[in-house]
Amino acid sequence: MTEITREEMDVDVLLVGAGPANLACAYRLLELIEQDKASGGSLGETVIMVIEKGAHVGAHSISGAVLDPVSLKELIPNFSELGAPVKTPVSSETMLYLTHGGKFKVPWVPSSMRHHGCYIISLNELTSWLGAQLEAKGCEIFAGTAGAKLLFEDDKVVGVQTDDKGINKEGEPKAAFEPGMNLRAKVTVLGEGVRGSLTKTLISKLKLDDNRNPQTYTTGVKELWEFPAGTLTPGAVYHTMGFPLDRQTFGGGFIYNLSDTVIAIGLVVGLNYRNPFTEPQALFSQMKTHPFIAKLLEKGKMIRYGAKAIPEGGYWSVPKNYGDGFLITGDATAFLNPARLKGVHLAIKSGMLAAETIFAALKKGDFSDAALLLYDQKWRSSLIYQELYGQRNFHHMFEHGVWSAPGFVVRRLLQGPGAFRKRPPIIEDHLNMRKLTDYFGSSVPKPEQWRPKPDGKLVMNKLDAVYFSGTHHEEDQPSHLLVKDTGICATKCVSEYGNPCQFFCPAQVYEMEDEGAGRKLKINASNCVHCKTCDIADPYGIITWVTPEGGGGPKYDGL
Ligand code: SF4
Repeated sequence: MTEITREEMDVDVLLVGAGPANLACAYRLLELIEQDKASGGSLGETVIMVIEKGAHVGAHSISGAVLDPVSLKELIPNFSELGAPVKTPVSSETMLYLTHGGKFKVPWVPSSMRHHGCYIISLNELTSWLGAQLEAKGCEIFAGTAGAKLLFEDDKVVGVQTDDKGINKEGEPKAAFEPGMNLRAKVTVLGEGVRGSLTKTLISKLKLDDNRNPQTYTTGVKELWEFPAGTLTPGAVYHTMGFPLDRQTFGGGFIYNLSDTVIAIGLVVGLNYRNPFTEPQALFSQMKTHPFIAKLLEKGKMIRYGAKAIPEGGYWSVPKNYGDGFLITGDATAFLNPARLKGVHLAIKSGMLAAETIFAALKKGDFSDAALLLYDQKWRSSLIYQELYGQRNFHHMFEHGVWSAPGFVVRRLLQGPGAFRKRPPIIEDHLNMRKLTDYFGSSVPKPEQWRPKPDGKLVMNKLDAVYFSGTHHEEDQPSHLLVKDTGICATKCVSEYGNPCQFFCPAQVYEMEDEGAGRKLKINASNCVHCKTCDIADPYGIITWVTPEGGGGPKYDGL
């Protein structure tokens, strides 16, 4: 393709990703600027721009979700009067251990899993509402615009190049081609969510994760089910352990009654699993066939589907999240409390702290690493640090499977608080996956034997489920899933791991097809729900997720 001439635009603050963290950042920053103006401050006109790859604000937001409202209250104290979709307080909580056919109630719910004062919400609705509050303040959000590439001057981030629109599968411009722009900013805030593609590049280029643990993840698969009016008790929360996960696999299920007619139900599966045939979507289907859950779902019907990876590494895995010309907020910097399985309140708080940091930088006219260090100082003096440091070893407890946790607790009791003061070493998730013969021995079973058969109600095949995520991409565009060497898929991976991409992807993007005497990888990129699991879980680390044309992807609604 010939060299592209791009338009340039200068802004003061560029926010990449309109999730709760960056929306909170822009909202708080506008407030600080308004206050400065009102008190005769020296700050001139400040241009803040938010770009979002989803077709609209909230389209790519998905979470459980039980919200701790602490940060939202701080950001917008009258959120209830303004009609925030935060209306269902948690009314009861139950923790269950599921066996194959039965269940027992766990008599003691750990304090981290108690939700008094929290609300069951749809993150997707909360994000859209936050976007509307921001737009009401006069800030424009450019949805359908992806950040394709970071712009650097040496190691300084100076902005982002947005996505080109109208490139065909072969990489050639189509008639409606529109080149992306170079948005140049004094400070760029990366709030792309989990495993953001620009954030990943930045972390690697500037070695922001030096002396940190590698990030560790789970993948959550979630559905909404609708019931006749009056069927459900709003606010009821169930967490499940055990079935269908084996003892080496971290994770658990959740059921949240959003209202008297809708529940959110899902399963979270640790991506440090051993069995290469682990398939989060199929395991979730299995979970729904458990007699207790099947009975619960009897009168309902599935209305929405979605999936996303969750950064669970906690304190030890937080990368350096500031530097010359940039800050990283929310899930993108792993501000998630893994013991509470909650990150929305920390994301909002991180956005607010980023705003205060940027405001101070704007005042000084200094956007260097030294000036933006303030963000680090701020989050370390906030509830983000309190929560993350307090639960810093949570994920490590389960590093060797669910049953390694009691041994960890015993060691803590015997050796006292000093036992785990140092950073415990962990390895990247995908390195835990065992080769077929290591895991199964000489007789490797057919993976299908674990997949429950679609029954049109509890169990759906992946393609039918993806339909309920509203996912759509322009078909005639280059694949946004870059596989470095498909030869590995067709040869080494077939025999060593049995092509686990076919299993871990919850949207049937990856399929192995027969080709002559061998196998060939087929990528159905248009099914992708942007969960990022493949970028994390591939055992050879050869899959890279990059942004497709802006506006593509899921259109979550109520998730
Ligand atoms: Fe998730 Fe990757 Fe599948 Fe897309 S292709 S749905 S990012 S696993």
